Amino acid sequence: MPIHQVFHKDILDAFNLDRAAVWFSLCSGAFDPISLQIVALFDDINTRRDYYEVINNTPTRESFPKVIERIKTLQQRSSIFPDGAALTVSYQGTNFELETLYDLVGWIFSVTGKTPDDATPANFYYPLVILYTQWCRTLCANENKEPQMVQITWFPQESIKRVCLGSNLDRPKGARKEAARTKRFDRLVKDGLAKEDERLKSYVDEGGQLIGHCAETFPMLFIKSLGNKVTMKDVKGVAVKPFAALAVLDKFAVPNTDTLRKELLEDPCGNCKVVLPRLGTNINLDNFSIYNL
Ligand SMILES: [Zn+2]
Repeated sequence: MPIHQVFHKDILDAFNLDRAAVWFSLCSGAFDPISLQIVALFDDINTRRDYYEVINNTPTRESFPKVIERIKTLQQRSSIFPDGAALTVSYQGTNFELETLYDLVGWIFSVTGKTPDDATPANFYYPLVILYTQWCRTLCANENKEPQMVQITWFPQESIKRVCLGSNLDRPKGARKEAARTKRFDRLVKDGLAKEDERLKSYVDEGGQLIGHCAETFPMLFIKSLGNKVTMKDVKGVAVKPFAALAVLDKFAVPNTDTLRKELLEDPCGNCKVVLPRLGTNINLDNFSIYNL
């Protein structure tokens, strides 16, 4: 079942969570109760992994408790980045170094629940990325630390539909961000998605963001790890600007005008136009266009 339905809520309820419980918690002096509800839901997934249809892969399932612990630590500090090292987390048997709160929550969304067979951008993929963004915002509770871009990719893995979600590394500026970017870049090189001589090269603009920064990075790496189980020509995705997308009235509706699409969504950047095709010759960049959502 879709991740929002696994919580027995429709997407609007999942987005807002339980206002009544919030009032109760506020009256009893609790701190930021909605974020605690989200963490409680993650804990419940961990204890009932079959029920919530977590991907049935032992290393993936074994990663769940430590992902939740790290999310709790970051939530308590209202932080996106950890003080120390990234967390080693399995995606379907392959280990990755997940750095930020958004990476970790994106991983939970990527391994929990079943994508419906009739999923479309309108009825599932776009609302899901909006829910992901809102929950990350709620958990962090510090808009000054939020990244400027999130992304959802969807694809068939053999007969199963999957999603992967991630974000870019806008904040903090400087050394911490660059350390995280470098770690992502090293992995892209290892997996053949970037080349060593591109370490300090940008295809965006002069002085633009470097490879590894983008929200597409972990979705691309996760898909790459699945090898020929993925039908590359059917890999699709869209990048979303959280600040704009969460500010509109009808948040879950796919933007339906050119103006709105440009305001809320983003085409693959110059770096992604180089890196994405390295997933496989059948990758279709048009599947990532803001006009093909
Ligand atoms: Zn990009």
